[in-house]
Amino acid sequence: MNDLLRIKELRETLEKFNYEYYVLDNPSVSDAEYDRLMNELTMLEKEHPEAYDALSPSQRVGGQVISEFKKVKHKRRMISLANAFNEDEMIDFDHRVKELLGTDRPIKYMAEMKIDGLAMSLDYGNGRLNYAATRGDGDVGEDVTSNVITIKSIPTKISVSAPLEVRGEVYMPKASLNELNRLQSNDGKPLFANARNAAAGSIRNLDSSVAASRKLDAYWYYFVNADEFKIHSHSEALNYIQKLGFRTNPERRICNGIEEVLDYIKEYTLKRPTLAYDIDGIVVKVDNIDDWDVLGYTAKTPRWAIAYKFPPEEVTTTLKDIIFTVGRTGKITPNAVLSPVRVAGSLVQRATLHNEDFILERELRVGDQVILRKAGDVIPEVVGVSLGKRTGDEKPFAMISHCPECGTPLIKIEAMHFCPNEHCPARNVEALIHFASRPAMDIDGLGEKIIELFFNERFLVDIPSIYHLSDHREAIIEMDGFSHKSIDNLLLAIEASKNQSLERLIFGLGIREIGEKTAKILAIKYLSLNRLLEAEYDELCSIDDIGPVAAQSIIDYAHDEHNKAMIKELDNVGVNMNYLGPTVRSDSFFSNKTVVLTGTLEKYGRREATEMLENLGAHVSGSVSKATDVVIYGSEAGSKLDKAQKLGVLTMDEDEFISHLGM
Ligand code: NAD
Repeated sequence: MNDLLRIKELRETLEKFNYEYYVLDNPSVSDAEYDRLMNELTMLEKEHPEAYDALSPSQRVGGQVISEFKKVKHKRRMISLANAFNEDEMIDFDHRVKELLGTDRPIKYMAEMKIDGLAMSLDYGNGRLNYAATRGDGDVGEDVTSNVITIKSIPTKISVSAPLEVRGEVYMPKASLNELNRLQSNDGKPLFANARNAAAGSIRNLDSSVAASRKLDAYWYYFVNADEFKIHSHSEALNYIQKLGFRTNPERRICNGIEEVLDYIKEYTLKRPTLAYDIDGIVVKVDNIDDWDVLGYTAKTPRWAIAYKFPPEEVTTTLKDIIFTVGRTGKITPNAVLSPVRVAGSLVQRATLHNEDFILERELRVGDQVILRKAGDVIPEVVGVSLGKRTGDEKPFAMISHCPECGTPLIKIEAMHFCPNEHCPARNVEALIHFASRPAMDIDGLGEKIIELFFNERFLVDIPSIYHLSDHREAIIEMDGFSHKSIDNLLLAIEASKNQSLERLIFGLGIREIGEKTAKILAIKYLSLNRLLEAEYDELCSIDDIGPVAAQSIIDYAHDEHNKAMIKELDNVGVNMNYLGPTVRSDSFFSNKTVVLTGTLEKYGRREATEMLENLGAHVSGSVSKATDVVIYGSEAGSKLDKAQKLGVLTMDEDEFISHLGM
């Protein structure tokens, strides 16, 4: 793959991870993996300045603002921190600071805990708390005052009447997280992967009684307008806000020169497990506030501070077995069965091994001592094998040749193995779960457990059988755990799902390679399922975001007799097959943004583009002003584009616009 394609791919992947992390508070990859991909993107972008994009995840502070909370425009941007992953990078940081300040003398730094929580801004005036706001996208955050004031240590009144803003981290202490997860587990609810997600999920919950019950706390590490109080050092600023009643972290320490910083890092690498809260690194800031102006900022980070991130925690454990699961597309995934081991605060006994190549590259054998990593967060990862510990009794790995569920010979596509049997029971159950899931047909009450149960009873056999479930109403009522009310609610939800718009149906059908975003693009383009399934290969390939593999997958799907019969049946029972358009979204890239179109748009006409933007929650305006957020330009764009550029408004051509449609 060439570098430019890789840049595009990395940007898309990181945007997806940002969405999961910042909006859903539910990441799917480890922070270490995210940081590794971000690093790769930054390096490639450095080598290819022509690919610069102000909207690249490398240039943007990660969060987005969801609509339910009132929005708050930050008085000063709330940005992120640059990262360092080892001593050398810390020493480089020190060199850069000295160079920019034009000095050889040791720099006075403040070293602080980098608590893994949620950044928060508190704004005061006339001695009272005006609001508490999340970081959001750095410019605009969410007003979460009602949740934040449930944290008892936060002063709602202070003895200073001048305007004042402090920022810090709201976090969930380790003990609160353990207790919360114990309750979640008792209630059969999913566990929180780490303290950060639990804190963010609590603060961004619309019901403030949830935050109140979650035992959160906060430390305040930044006095934003200290300069207006004639304060010249960060250490003084923290002492000042502490006197005003803000909780500041007692572990902070002034370090004279980078050597003392490195000692501090070593000390806290050891002390980390004894702290009452999770930290994922150490933040180091130049103490002299007057130097901050000289050092300045990049688009995303200040040059006067850096976050040293701890290396991911690794442990060794026994690989007891490799078992295989079958996904909804028939994909076979090998999974490691491990001797239970505690890593980064949680007990791990399973880890995905992705595919055959992953296992062969690492030369894994059943019986091996494997190295497991869980970077202070979510997904456990088998990174390698401890070769020195081999006894000779380990069993070399051989990929299975037949489906573990139905015995059909597997086929191999690129690195993956698939069960090609459309009727494989494992595939059918997974396909049903996917079809009914929230981002697909969103059938409330038809979750994994119920589907498995009904599948075993043969009430459900394939996707269309969902719409015949009412035939089994009486038999279901006889089963344990079902009442008239619960089954009737489920049948109503199934009936309601017939009216879902096309993009959900396309996604729900589980066509290989067609994710949620692509499904949306296809629905907007083809408007009906029949038109999509009649599309030619070349035509599909010409759509941005659809590569040759996805195009072929749609063609294969459309030509399969079994699929044709299934779609006919869905049509017969009354499932909507058309794009219903206007459900205005509040979580898209364009939501709540003022957008101006100018010039001739080639792919979508002006009307169509306006309609799409409005569906995505944008306000489309005719003239450019300071209040404009984005200008989308086609060919022969004139004065509006010039004006936008002069005002520093974000501009994008039609291709960039299309690439943002699914965000
Ligand atoms: P960051 O967490 O690396 O650092 C900035 C944040 O540190 C600040 O916003 C603040 O909230 C916090 N902080 C804690 N203590 C602080 C202190 N004493 N002084 C100043 N700040 C302090 O940056 P980010 O932009 O919030 O997040 C990016 C990181 O989040 C990535 O490097 C990655 O590790 C993780 N991430 C992971 C995923 C995923 O899918 N796993 C997705 C997005 C981001």
